[in-house]
Amino acid sequence: MWKIIAQLNFLLKQMSKYMLRNWQKKSEEHQKVYKQYLQKADKKAFLKALPEIHEEVVSNINCLDCAACCKNYSPRFKVPDIKRISKHLSMKESAFIDKYLNLDEEGDYVVNSKPCPFLNVDNYCSIYDKRPSDCARFPYTDEDVLLKRPALTLKNSTFCPIVHFVLEELIQKAPK
Ligand code: SF4
Ligand code: SF4
Repeated sequence: MWKIIAQLNFLLKQMSKYMLRNWQKKSEEHQKVYKQYLQKADKKAFLKALPEIHEEVVSNINCLDCAACCKNYSPRFKVPDIKRISKHLSMKESAFIDKYLNLDEEGDYVVNSKPCPFLNVDNYCSIYDKRPSDCARFPYTDEDVLLKRPALTLKNSTFCPIVHFVLEELIQKAPK
């Protein structure tokens, strides 16, 4: 009996590795489907299904194996973020801004280098407890932002497996 359970667990792990390796291609192919879903989704059904789907997907993906967000994109550093993080690093706010940040075209402070300077080689965030609120909320799969900002959701679905799998599940469980 235990041998069968061990074999099943092994099989599930292999399947999950396979899915994680191939999700990006599937996401690319499904962009149109996601766009149509986000335009026409039933908001009530969407919000009802989202918490459980979010939990299920997040519990099956290890961000430490990925870090695509921290490697390729910057969060916004809002004033409270800058105050909190510079204090944590015992730096003056102006020195923190000079050392780590740039203003982007929308007037938001973002990191001045890629990957994020606070990302360690083991994919841990060196300021995790004090990280910007954008980082704490990313990838927004437990918020209605997913539906409210479709362009952002579509972009995130191309590099974040959590967004991809949440959309796939939503389409199955909370159809338009
Ligand atoms: S891109 Fe998504 S899965 Fe990857 S580390 Fe960021 S939040 Fe986690
Ligand atoms: S502050 Fe931390 S969580 Fe946010 S992008 Fe940088 S490394 Fe990632």
